[in-house]
This record gives sequence, C-alpha cells and structure tokens, in this order.
Amino acid sequence: MTATVAISLGNERGAAPVRIGILGAGPAGLVTALALERYLVPGRARITLFDQNASATDYPGVEYGIQERACRALERIGKLEQALARANPCTELAFYQARLGRRFRTVRVNSHYTRTVVRQEFIADLSALLEQTVLLRRHTVTTIDPAPDRAVVVSGEQGPDQAPFAAEFDLIVAADGVRSVARSRLFPAAATPCDRGFSCIYMLVEDTPETAPPGFMARANSGRNELVMGSLSTLTMFPLGAGRLALGIGFDHATKRSLWSEQGLAEDVEWAQIPAAKKKAIAVRLADDTPLPDGSMSPALDLVSDWNSYKIYLWSMRDTDPLSRPYATSSGLVVIGDAAHAMMPTIGMGASLAIEDAEMLARAVALAIQQNPDAASFRAAAERAVFAPFAAARVPVWNDLMGRARQAAIQNFIDVGRHKRFAIGPQIPNTLLSKLVTRGEAILGALGL
Ligand SMILES: Cc1cc2nc3c(=O)[nH]c(=O)nc-3n(C[C@H](O)[C@H](O)[C@H](O)COP(=O)(O)OP(=O)(O)OC[C@H]3O[C@@H](n4cnc5c(N)ncnc54)[C@H](O)[C@@H]3O)c2cc1C
Repeated sequence: MTATVAISLGNERGAAPVRIGILGAGPAGLVTALALERYLVPGRARITLFDQNASATDYPGVEYGIQERACRALERIGKLEQALARANPCTELAFYQARLGRRFRTVRVNSHYTRTVVRQEFIADLSALLEQTVLLRRHTVTTIDPAPDRAVVVSGEQGPDQAPFAAEFDLIVAADGVRSVARSRLFPAAATPCDRGFSCIYMLVEDTPETAPPGFMARANSGRNELVMGSLSTLTMFPLGAGRLALGIGFDHATKRSLWSEQGLAEDVEWAQIPAAKKKAIAVRLADDTPLPDGSMSPALDLVSDWNSYKIYLWSMRDTDPLSRPYATSSGLVVIGDAAHAMMPTIGMGASLAIEDAEMLARAVALAIQQNPDAASFRAAAERAVFAPFAAARVPVWNDLMGRARQAAIQNFIDVGRHKRFAIGPQIPNTLLSKLVTRGEAILGALGL
C-alpha cells in the first residue's frame, strides 16, 4: 500500500496565515484564487488550487461567452484586459428565423464588456496570471472530511505512480464543476444532473484567408454572434477572431433519434464511437436546416479536417438545481460555479456566473480574514461573516438565471418548430443598460461607497 503524502502548507495549526484550498481550476476556481490574491493583505493566507487535469487543454469545452457581469468582476480585480487578452469583442447579437428567411432582431451590446474566448486559451491565460497561489495539477480530490474545530481535510490521488495526498484547510472553496465531489458529499440528493431533453454539437472551425470559402473569414472575425432557428434545430455562431468560428447546433432528443436512425446509428451510441463521415453527415444535415439569408453554413464544415478531434463534441444537456444553502454548517466549505448551479448554455451564462460568484466570494473572504486574522477565529466566523451573506446575495440570482436558461432551452432548442422567436431576456445587457450601470458605479465611486 502507498503511504499518503501530507501536503505542507508551511504553517502550524492555529497560527496565521489562513489555509485556503480551492478545488477545480476552471473559471470559478481560477478567478477565486486571482481575486483572493488581489483582495487579501499579503501574507494573511496561503492558497492552494487542486485540479485533476494535467493542463488547460484537457477540458472538452470549445468557447465561452464572457458576459458583462463577468467582465465587471474581472475589472474589479484589475485583470479584465490580461484575462481576456485573446478574446474577441462582441458588438451585437443577431437573431434569425430560417422559415422567414430573415433577421428579425438585433441587440447591440457593449463590446468592452462582452467578449468571446476559446475555453482552453482562457483557462491558460487565467492560470498564467496566478502569482501567489500554488496550483497542483494532476491532483484528483476524492474525499472531503470535516476535521476538529471546523477545519476540513481533502485527500485524493496524484496519478498511478504517485502517493495519494492529504491536506488540512481552514476554508475549502469547491469549484469542481458539474460532477462536484463536494456537492455529492454534502448534498447527495441534489448531486445528479437532470437530463433536459436536448443535445448540442459544439465545434471549432478555423481557416486562413487563402483557403476559406466566401464570407467565412468576415464572419469569423466579426463582432456579431448569430443565432438561427430552423425547423429541427438551432444554430449558434460565435466569432472568435483570427479566422476561428465556434458553432453550436442544438436539437431535441426526438430529432436526435431520427437523425441517428437515418445514419444507421443506435440512439445511445457514444459520440466518440460514431465514424467521422457520419458525424459530418449529421452536422451538414442540421446546418442545412438553419440557413442564413446569405446561405447555409454547411460549406464551412468542409474546413473541419478531423471530425474525431476534441474540438468537436456532443454535449448532452443536463443541469442541476441551484443549491439553496451552498455551504457546510459544521466546517469551512463553500460551493460555487457549476458545482453549485450547473446551467445549460442556452443563455450563455455558465462561465460568467461562475466568475461573478468567485469574485464576490473572495471579496467576502478577504474582508472576514482582515477582521479575524487568526485562523481559528476566521473558522469560527466564516459561516456568519462569509457563507450566509454570500448565499443570501447569490441564490436568488442563480434561481432567476436558471429559470431563464430552462425557459430558453424549451423555446429555443426543444420546441423550435413551434416558435417564431427566441426567448431572450434581460440577462443580455444592451448598450443602454451597460452605460447606466457604468454611470451608477461612477456615482457610487464618487460618493466613496
Ligand atoms: C462537457 C462540457 C462541455 C462544455 N462546453 C461548454 C462550451 O463549449 N461553452 C460554454 O460556454 N460552456 C461549456 N460548458 C459549461 C462550462 O464549462 C461551465 O459553465 C463553466 O466552465 C463553469 O465553470 P466552473 O469553474 O464552475 O466549472 P468547470 O469549468 O467545470 O471547472 C471545474 C474544474 O474542476 C476540476 N475538477 C473536477 N472534479 C475534480 C476533482 N475531483 N478533483 C480535482 N479537480 C476536479 C475540473 O478538471 C475542472 O477544471 C461545458 C460543460 C461541460 C460539462
């Protein structure tokens, strides 16, 4: 049997600084660490970030919409431009109905506060900004146990040839995503994601000006996100700049059954097991169902050289109810991001909400550490000073946006044949609202609030 290695956090129990462990180096975990670095008085805490992945490229996501609430959170910690150095600014969202053959609505957005990123680039860029945090990759947390005096012990595996690890913390921030260990441990009844009846093929299509089909480069380098409702499916297009375009093609499971059957595929076959030619045939069929006024996107699918690449995957839509009390009452553990509220991408809010959670939690933690600098007194104060106020502020926001994401799933992706218009709502900041928020913040700032 291999002996467990105790990770050294460099301080004795009860002595400062406060030991903070973060589970998961996705947007929520990384921004928590960056915001703690920004808000904490130097030397008051030691931050350790665990992630099971070996690198930022291990994650299967294609793109993120980084919406205004996330941009403002990144701005508050002084990292907006560095974190989004490779992002593409978005200027407008254009909505089309294929049956009508025209665009029926355009929403102009504030391009300073609305960006689109390649998931892997964004994670790599956030990771590179860490200055004081110890980032432990290839560390899979398997167990979380309460320890005496409200401390928490996490333990897990480092890889086949490495000893298991264990470490004790004064605070654990669980940002470990939709299959959160913390969520299943604390709230087992609420841990299983619920199937919402539709799937999306996500893909990254890229080319150069020399070889791209007409119109592709202009679309990929534009600031216009386009959404097209067809009779079977809904196509979403996110320009990523540098000749890259993310496509998401969503369809309900009745449509999936018939498309898979057309290709002679069993309904429950894994995407990875589907031959490349059949993957392409399904995608072309769906792209032809959602033509834009200037034509179908199916010629752009010829640009995909490898249909078995990780840049093309099928995402079966599941979500989890937001936790109503996202923390433990007997130890220092709080849950944020997808671990607290995994959301479908129907309003493009998953990463943005996770980033906002992270910044708000870190601000409250830093203030509580300032008021309770000793680790033991911080542990005693955490529920009252951090967890309860955080939950009171965030849970209503999570419930509101989860409701909108579910409504948009039905109208925009499941009942597409019945609707002429997209469900879009006030979660999309237009330029006027954006200006009003900026003005409001400037007034509060001038008043010293
Ligand atoms: C398959 C899939 C594809 C997606 N594709 C997209 C997309 O294309 N566009 C989009 O906008 N959104 C996408 N999402 C949703 C989006 O990823 C989330 O909304 C967003 O990333 C939430 O951020 P987070 O930090 O809370 O969680 P995550 O980004 O999921 O980060 C959680 C991190 O925790 C780590 N982790 C998990 N368990 C452990 C453990 N036991 N020990 C150590 N580390 C652990 C993971 O490796 C991961 O890095 C996708 C989600 C899934 C599940």
